[in-house]
Amino acid sequence: MPVPLLKKVLPAQTRLSLRQFYWLSRSWLYVGNKVYCPLCEAAFRTFLPFGTERRQQALCPRCHTVERHRLLWLYLTEQVNITQRSLEVLHMAPEPILQSRLKRLLHLRYRSADLTSPVAMDHADIQALPYPDATFDLILCSHVLAHVPNDAKALQELRRVLKPTGQLLLQARLHPHAHTVEQPNAITPQQRLQAYGQADRFRNYGQDFGQRVAAQGFSVEKVEYALTRTPEEQTRLGLGNGELIFVATPSRHEAQ
Ligand SMILES: [Zn+2]
Repeated sequence: MPVPLLKKVLPAQTRLSLRQFYWLSRSWLYVGNKVYCPLCEAAFRTFLPFGTERRQQALCPRCHTVERHRLLWLYLTEQVNITQRSLEVLHMAPEPILQSRLKRLLHLRYRSADLTSPVAMDHADIQALPYPDATFDLILCSHVLAHVPNDAKALQELRRVLKPTGQLLLQARLHPHAHTVEQPNAITPQQRLQAYGQADRFRNYGQDFGQRVAAQGFSVEKVEYALTRTPEEQTRLGLGNGELIFVATPSRHEAQ
């Protein structure tokens, strides 16, 4: 059956389940003990290349997560203690495998949201979220903000729905240049493709990403969590080079 027809006939969750079954069946080709994926809790002889630049040791053969997913999961389990704590969690633009893992933690009150993704629980614009103030203890927002027209407004919304004691965990692709590049004249997808290398991006973040988050009312800590492991462990867990987690907490409490 052609893929477009499959998309019409099968619900997104069913298609995802079929893909996961296919990946699981193929993962036996990579049985071994050289690398370990903490998300699907399985060992393999190698991770697979992934991305337009074919990063080596990137993709888990079984659950198809990449470096940043594994790093975030380690942080969530080891630092947030997410397998034990009862938390209100919002997951923006949910990665399907991470969402599956989080939904299995029945002590969490978990919501996921995205503008269009069929696997998200709520369809919502990150620039105008449909949740009351101070709802969530934890918000996950990985590789989302570069694709949002007004990232300052999005951060203000995330801060609004985050409890004063809550944490926002951000991941983003950072370019080596000091300042974020935004070209207001790049309006059409074709122009944005030329300006940013991807048609669905609105900016390329530079090393000032943390400052841009802080400017919207957050205290921001840049965490190089892979460095909590030895180089051998980083290789075994496939944590990549230079993946960061930005831990943002509300810096100013509004008067009640
Ligand atoms: Zn995996």
